Amino acid sequence: MAARFVEDAPRAVLHTAKELLAKGLVEGTAGNVSARMEDGNVCITPSSVDYREMTLEDLVVIDPSGEPVSGARPASSEKALHLACYEAFEEVGSVIHSHPVHATVFAVARRPIPACIDEFTVYVGGEVAVTQYAPSGTPEVGKAAVDVLAERGAALLANHGMVAVGKSPSDALHITALVERSAEIILGAVALGGATELPADMNRSFGDVYKFLRTS
Ligand SMILES: [Zn+2]
Repeated sequence: MAARFVEDAPRAVLHTAKELLAKGLVEGTAGNVSARMEDGNVCITPSSVDYREMTLEDLVVIDPSGEPVSGARPASSEKALHLACYEAFEEVGSVIHSHPVHATVFAVARRPIPACIDEFTVYVGGEVAVTQYAPSGTPEVGKAAVDVLAERGAALLANHGMVAVGKSPSDALHITALVERSAEIILGAVALGGATELPADMNRSFGDVYKFLRTS
């Protein structure tokens, strides 16, 4: 398939960045949202601008090598993570990096989020693994994430947070919120005595639905 792109990417990126804050999936200026444009360049949120104040003029366009194309501000410090996802997966139209509390608990414990909920496997693909540790803002974060994201909609970044890939910013936001909600539910189940994973055959067939949805 030709590389997936997002119509009117700046408007979609800005709307989703504000939703990410409203849903409590990031705090302050942390996290970042991007979308691939029709010409192959990437529209991404800027570094260090409060989401509440952010306007279309604050967004940055970079080319696939990370060089600025337009915008007055520097691109997000995690731009290499976003670009690694677009380079590796042509079916991905949007990337969201966030720091949700419960998913980050798993990332800090370096424990995968198990597949315990039907919709989790349908929209994320199955158990979400933790990447190899790499310091924030380095190209190694992207390399480590791509390994996990080949068959999943999300990856936990060791000692840091998470990254989600989807067709559009709203799709990647849905995955981000679903992973965070599932992490919270599983922590609750563990407190009650244990989280039960989906039966293996159902996990496989829901995982096939994810693969279909990702590329369709
Ligand atoms: Zn981060």
